[in-house]
Amino acid sequence: MKAVSIKQPGEAEQMEIQERDKPIPKVGELLVEVRTAALNRTDIVTRSNPNLSEPYPILGVEIAGVVVENRGNGEKYKTGTRVAGLVNQGGYAEYAILPANRAILLPESMSFEQGAAIPEVFLTAYQTLYWLGELKTAETVLIHAGASGVGTAAIQMAKHLTQARVIVTAGSAEKLAVCQTLGADKTINYKEENFAEEVLDYTDQAGVDVILDFIGASYWENNLKSIKKDGRWVLIGTLGGATVKEVDLSALLAKRVTLKGTLLTPRSDEYKAKLTQEFVKVVLPYFKRETIHPIIDTTFQLEEVVQAHQYMEDNKNIGKIILKVRA
Ligand code: NAP
Repeated sequence: MKAVSIKQPGEAEQMEIQERDKPIPKVGELLVEVRTAALNRTDIVTRSNPNLSEPYPILGVEIAGVVVENRGNGEKYKTGTRVAGLVNQGGYAEYAILPANRAILLPESMSFEQGAAIPEVFLTAYQTLYWLGELKTAETVLIHAGASGVGTAAIQMAKHLTQARVIVTAGSAEKLAVCQTLGADKTINYKEENFAEEVLDYTDQAGVDVILDFIGASYWENNLKSIKKDGRWVLIGTLGGATVKEVDLSALLAKRVTLKGTLLTPRSDEYKAKLTQEFVKVVLPYFKRETIHPIIDTTFQLEEVVQAHQYMEDNKNIGKIILKVRA
């Protein structure tokens, strides 16, 4: 089968389409003929990881496609069933293995492009808002990188599941306008405004209950100023750096802040299955009613994978970047 891996760890140009063996499913797994895969920042981290050794992995952690082999998982996943889900690498390929207990049955109304746009960002946003951030009804949440894949998912869930007051930051007027369409109540262009000042002004100096932080070091000070007493701050990315110099921990104490970090990709199979199953129960009905939507920026062909990664690294996308693996 055709699959995307790397010549050696490094820049996007190191990716190439290679001929690989079709994977063989074990009991409890599905072999899926992949129609679409989607890009994630974790693919960039994997692609450029200098500690990788050969054989290099097939990239990609999420797919949508059709079940072509079902190893003992009952009628629900019979051959021909349309599914999406998180895979343990191997997504940018014509076939991939998907554990049946984290397969999302695609509603009829949904395309394979929309299906691939769901698992990683919606599961991450659900996990961080609710399992880790413990966001409650009508609380206030600050979502950074609001137009990112995870950001667009988080805005919609915070609004529709918990009627939260949603404040977002992003780097352009176009991105902020989309965030507003998705339900953001207050939008801040972090390149032109001091987001902490804006947050405090908007919340009558109270601050926010929850921060969804993709940025890390460069936002440390302003996040501390923006968070409320007893606030929950969930760190899920370090796009703005990983090292904070001269940290003053007293503000964390004084505000009784809970700071949690998380990475979804290295979580156990059991964790991903439990998260997917709860998400399917709680959030999939909103997709069926078309209240919540997967947000897609651009679809690239598999052969254009280098350009697709460069597009993401240039911060151009609003929502997800999809790879079309086959028609
Ligand atoms: P994405 O769609 O590629 O969007 C990322 C956006 O972040 C960029 O378009 C850019 O938008 C903004 N950004 C980049 N560098 C920035 C900086 N230095 N300061 C402020 N904003 C910056 O990303 P994604 O796939 O949704 O992922 C978003 C983040 O979540 C990534 O850090 C990713 O690694 C992380 N993530 C974590 C987990 C986890 O389990 N921990 C899972 C999935 C994703 P602007 O134009 O607005 O600057």
